[in-house]
Amino acid sequence: MSEKSEIDLLNAICRVAKSEGKLTGRNLTELYEVFGQRFTKAFEALRENRVKKYVFRPSGKVVWIVVGRERDYLLMPEAEFCTCDDFYFRVLDRQVHLCYHLIAQKVARVLDWFDMVEEHDELYDSLMSEWKKATV
Ligand SMILES: [Zn+2]
Repeated sequence: MSEKSEIDLLNAICRVAKSEGKLTGRNLTELYEVFGQRFTKAFEALRENRVKKYVFRPSGKVVWIVVGRERDYLLMPEAEFCTCDDFYFRVLDRQVHLCYHLIAQKVARVLDWFDMVEEHDELYDSLMSEWKKATV
């Protein structure tokens, strides 16, 4: 499957989910058909409230984090970028386009299914360097 169609499919399913206000049984089946284990893991992260939206005040800067088993993953959804190894090795290799964190974030955003964490701007730099450090 090409990378383009993976994203298109996810977007299409998210549009339906948004209009329904939830993931229907059919959405779940489709997502599983497209993403397999990646969706299983994404769904688990959603159900365990491990998708976090950090909003920094007063700037309003937004950072998305998926709390993983061993560390936190920093996502840049606009760039479809994630700091996980899965992303680094497979996505850059063009084997897989979306890691499970990005799938979880997309569904989370569409369905408002995330934990919102508000922090002061003063903490932005130190938190970002923590999150980025984990990537090396
Ligand atoms: Zn990832």
